Amino acid sequence: MTDEPLAPGLYIVATPIGNLGDITLRAADTLTRCDAIACEDTRVTAKLLRHLNLHKPLWRYDDHSSEDDRRRLIDAMRDKAVALVSDAGTPLISDPGYRLVRAAREEGLAVTSLPGPSAAIVALTLSGLPNDRFLFAGFLPVKDKARGDTLAELARVPATLVFYESAQRLVKTLEAIAAALPGRDVAVARELTKLHEECRTGSPQDLAAHYTAHPPKGEIVLMAGPPGEAESGETDVDALLIAAMVHDKPSQAAAQVAKASGLDRKALYARAMELKPHGNPKA
Ligand code: SAM
Repeated sequence: MTDEPLAPGLYIVATPIGNLGDITLRAADTLTRCDAIACEDTRVTAKLLRHLNLHKPLWRYDDHSSEDDRRRLIDAMRDKAVALVSDAGTPLISDPGYRLVRAAREEGLAVTSLPGPSAAIVALTLSGLPNDRFLFAGFLPVKDKARGDTLAELARVPATLVFYESAQRLVKTLEAIAAALPGRDVAVARELTKLHEECRTGSPQDLAAHYTAHPPKGEIVLMAGPPGEAESGETDVDALLIAAMVHDKPSQAAAQVAKASGLDRKALYARAMELKPHGNPKA
């Protein structure tokens, strides 16, 4: 490490997701030597800088920042080293930054990314779920119908699914997973790297019952293992029909799944009628 100033450009710096000891040597060095830091919330980043005993200009930036704000940042990067951090973890991963990176690349500016903590990766390594293939799906939609549709779409993906979720929505989402992805192994990773870290595994039904009895607090990553062999083929279609019938009548569910899968609508309707007790009895 050296005290020399950094070359101009954009430095994407991952920061801890709870335990400040997880800051990397390179992240601390870059934050020490950069000219300014673009961040989501200046109060949150000021806390990290106090921990590192640093004083730097903090420029607020997120993906809702105006085009003019982004232009000003890009112009500054022509002769300054600008670090980009988010409130926690790796910038751009369910966090602001991609528009800024795209603009910097279009301008031919130097872009460097410093690896470090990300809740999705920490959770995946803790879960014991297969990780040779995984799909990071970010936050699920909040509305029931949109969430069910997204899960039905993901039901076919032959990989572990990784979601970010809030404590207050966890039980509802576990119930939606039980309906759309029946039989999956699920893991809930909570408060990672912090004092009350836990990783709990089981069926979505059991985990929904546990967290109904013990309402969770803090930050959460939710994972669903890949579909088993029994879930391939026809059973995959069953999952899609069951998820669609949470909100829609069998005929509408059959039409949706026919459109998504290209399968015969009449045959799907017949199967939906057989499966109806699993769906919403009111639909
Ligand atoms: N960019 C961050 C990253 O790389 O992990 C994620 C930012 S996203 C806005 C915040 C979400 O990440 C939280 O709502 C939660 O789902 C997850 N998360 C962040 N820190 C966490 C932690 N310590 N334990 C569990 N989940 C966490």
